[in-house]
Amino acid sequence: MSLSGVTDIDRTDACIRPLLCRGMDGRPDWPYLWFHRTEAKMTKPPLTLLLAAPRGFCAGVDRAIKIVEMAIDKWGAPVYVRHEIVHNKFVVDSLRDRGAVFVEHLDEVPADRPVIFSAHGVPKAVPAEAARRQMVFVDATCPLVSKVHIEAERHHADGLQMVMIGHDGHPETIGTMGQLPPGEVVLVETVADVAGLQVRDPSKLAFITQTTLSVDDTADIVAALQARFPAIVGPHKEDICYATTNRQAAVKEIAPRIDALLVIGAPNSSNSKRLVEVGRAAGCGYAQLVQRATEIDWRALEGSRSVGITAGASAPEVLITEVLDAFLDRFDAVVELVETARETVEFKVPRVLRVPT
Ligand code: SF4
Repeated sequence: MSLSGVTDIDRTDACIRPLLCRGMDGRPDWPYLWFHRTEAKMTKPPLTLLLAAPRGFCAGVDRAIKIVEMAIDKWGAPVYVRHEIVHNKFVVDSLRDRGAVFVEHLDEVPADRPVIFSAHGVPKAVPAEAARRQMVFVDATCPLVSKVHIEAERHHADGLQMVMIGHDGHPETIGTMGQLPPGEVVLVETVADVAGLQVRDPSKLAFITQTTLSVDDTADIVAALQARFPAIVGPHKEDICYATTNRQAAVKEIAPRIDALLVIGAPNSSNSKRLVEVGRAAGCGYAQLVQRATEIDWRALEGSRSVGITAGASAPEVLITEVLDAFLDRFDAVVELVETARETVEFKVPRVLRVPT
């Protein structure tokens, strides 16, 4: 897609501004010259935009948003959502406009209104409490997060203690650790954490991971765990999901060809932050997270000939279009799609939303 356009200097000749800027004697005065110099400088600089693919929404996010929309259609507003359904302000605000109410704790939800649990997953105690209060609830936990929950339970049933590789305080980590009784899952965030790890029995261990981690950093942590605990059991392939893996691979592909990388995503979106880190680790000197076009630091991009654009799994395509439009306003830009994988994954919404009331 070539998006090069007419330069501003082309338009200057037909512009009435030079007439307005002539002095009383009809000769150009200084504003006239200033306009011409300014508009000459406004000729758009050339730029190549490398648009990563895959980028943006994954199947788990798509499903979670559909769940909220269908719940509002089915039960009417308000429908409560425990925690941001996905980590993106634009998405959350749009759903709020349709009648979703976002809360952090279940006890903020009236017992007679439906509640949805976010895509990140929740500790077991949360649906148990909703059931105790006889609430209508729908679990929007991504099936790939649920798969990790099931893995943890299976290892626990086999008598293994779990080491979770993840980020302390992230809702997915809290949800996964909350599948088992306290002390049954210990958390490591870095290779350094592995050295100080205290476990019950080094011969009875398994590891699980958050789904949105850096593939490379996680491989280092897994290697450190295996070196220290040779008997540790793990998944055949780590638990990092297909969407996280694919988006990171696309960034690695474009990184050698770009002067700067913009990742569209929220500051609390784990997979978006990892994309920034992956870009930097792959040699991109300037890699920045932006929520919207208004956050782009244009000064930092001065002199760039080639900029990479990608988006975290919770960022909608409309925000990517907004960022591309902002570039096209300022640059004579050519957009090149760099596709490293095709995604066909889809998840069904829960049955309760598919059947008529
Ligand atoms: Fe599911 Fe991966 Fe998307 Fe998270 S990033 S919602 S685990 S598909």
